[in-house]
Amino acid sequence: MRNAIGIDIGGTKIAMGLVQENGILLKKEEFTTLKKEKGEKILRVITDRIPSFYDENTTGIGIGSAGQIGHSGKVLSATDTFSDWQGLPIQTWLENETGYRVAVVNDVQAMGLGEQYFGAGRDVKNFLCVAIGTGIGGAIIADGQLLRGHAGAAGEVGHMVLYPNGRECPCGNKGCFEAYASGTALEAMYAENFKEVKKGQEIFAEALGDNENAAFIINQYIENLAIGMTSLTNIFNPEKIILGGGVSGSLVPFITDIRQQVRSQVNKINKDVEIELSMLGGDAMIIGAASLVF
Ligand SMILES: [Zn+2]
Repeated sequence: MRNAIGIDIGGTKIAMGLVQENGILLKKEEFTTLKKEKGEKILRVITDRIPSFYDENTTGIGIGSAGQIGHSGKVLSATDTFSDWQGLPIQTWLENETGYRVAVVNDVQAMGLGEQYFGAGRDVKNFLCVAIGTGIGGAIIADGQLLRGHAGAAGEVGHMVLYPNGRECPCGNKGCFEAYASGTALEAMYAENFKEVKKGQEIFAEALGDNENAAFIINQYIENLAIGMTSLTNIFNPEKIILGGGVSGSLVPFITDIRQQVRSQVNKINKDVEIELSMLGGDAMIIGAASLVF
């Protein structure tokens, strides 16, 4: 059976896997990356590891990378990743270095493909992925196709504006969904309200334990999450929204509440929208990236 190498490049770690064309992850390796590392050095680390993955059945290398990725596999823009990631022609660089077939999309777009072919999006023609971690990313599968957009950067749902002139977002704008519903935003809002620094997971756990301060912040957080997902649902009319990213695990006890809030706010036509967690979890990006080159 054919297989492909899938690589998930994030700001803090790189995960590489060998994926069979039926979606089974045969082998996986992770390594941490240093912030502000030179982009080419990161690619060099990857090319050094490729021979230990590649075999006679391998069809190529698929990559899901942090940042906005253009149609030609070049990084259009990236904040908070590597020092010269922006502008780096990942696809061409790796093709030249390895001689193999290479395809590159944004990491959450890769997650969308993984869920579409092998996860919670199988047999679903219209769905959205919302990845909630330090930021918020998204992928739109519309009529069975990943929406890439004019430059390749469609699906950046984190920068939909919820509140004009609201909280500052890393993108430079104000009031973005990401500035209210990312893990970073949750921790910042808690710290601002109670002058105390707490990890997101702790805040979720304390809210469940009826801690008043934590419950107050989590209620606001869930409301903001639901407002964002309501707009997305009205725009794209998806059958479901699949939640992923580092924060999504903490949302499990709140998912019924989120679903109810979204369903009570969307247009009538969208009342049956489903909201569920990613089936592939942290491996969705590796598996989806590999699917680019099967
Ligand atoms: Zn933004």
